[in-house]
Amino acid sequence: MRKLILAGNWKMNKGAASAAVELARGVAAEVGAVTEVDVVLCPPFTSLRPVVEAVKGTRITVGAQNMYPEDSGAFTGEISPLDLLDCGCKYVILGHSERRTIFKETNEFINKKVICALAKGLIPIMCIGETEQERIDGKTETVVEDHLKGGLAGLTPEQVRTVVIAYEPVWAIGTGKTASPEDAQAVHKFCRDWLTNAYDQATAQAVRIQYGGSMKPDNAHDLLTQPDIDGGLIGGASLKVDSFVGIIRNSGAL
Ligand code: PEP
Repeated sequence: MRKLILAGNWKMNKGAASAAVELARGVAAEVGAVTEVDVVLCPPFTSLRPVVEAVKGTRITVGAQNMYPEDSGAFTGEISPLDLLDCGCKYVILGHSERRTIFKETNEFINKKVICALAKGLIPIMCIGETEQERIDGKTETVVEDHLKGGLAGLTPEQVRTVVIAYEPVWAIGTGKTASPEDAQAVHKFCRDWLTNAYDQATAQAVRIQYGGSMKPDNAHDLLTQPDIDGGLIGGASLKVDSFVGIIRNSGAL
């Protein structure tokens, strides 16, 4: 049985410690003791440490939104996995569509990050997903396969089992448009079948595949109770206690 993982991607919001701590404490007060699902908060780098402090003693864990695949060195503006660990991070989001699009991150670069994160003991949340045009052109499966193949290249089955995949159709991110539960489930099933073929059934059954794209309290239940949807990566709705907690409460797992 895969445990649902519900992660809030705060993006470039709540970077100030006071705002981040207020939100983290609000979430912790409501669902800090929940054990049925894994709750993860992913604030900007500047508020990682305050958020880790704010959720200390609860079941909530913390993730970063990116990292550079080197320990240290001349990489101005980047952040090392060792520093994320030092801040108390457990997870790191890698290959978000905003990084693929705005910062031109490639599958190869994302793969380096995934390998590095695993080597350091961080759990990657690796994002995949098609654009609206790619969906219209009937290329969803091709794109998703390309992202899986490229991002997971060189990993052993044991390593793949640790990775969390976030299927995020780009056209659904921040747009208010959500994939229907049936459409999302179909892509998640495609991903799981791909994992079975590329690795083995036990590996495919172990990997958690989140859905991301305008998830809200009112659509969370139908999405999160699909057989191959194992959680959510939540942007906008994770910025308010009520909506993020509402998704967790409507997940069908509590
Ligand atoms: C995201 O950024 O990963 C995301 C899913 O955003 P939103 O929930 O706002 O669509």
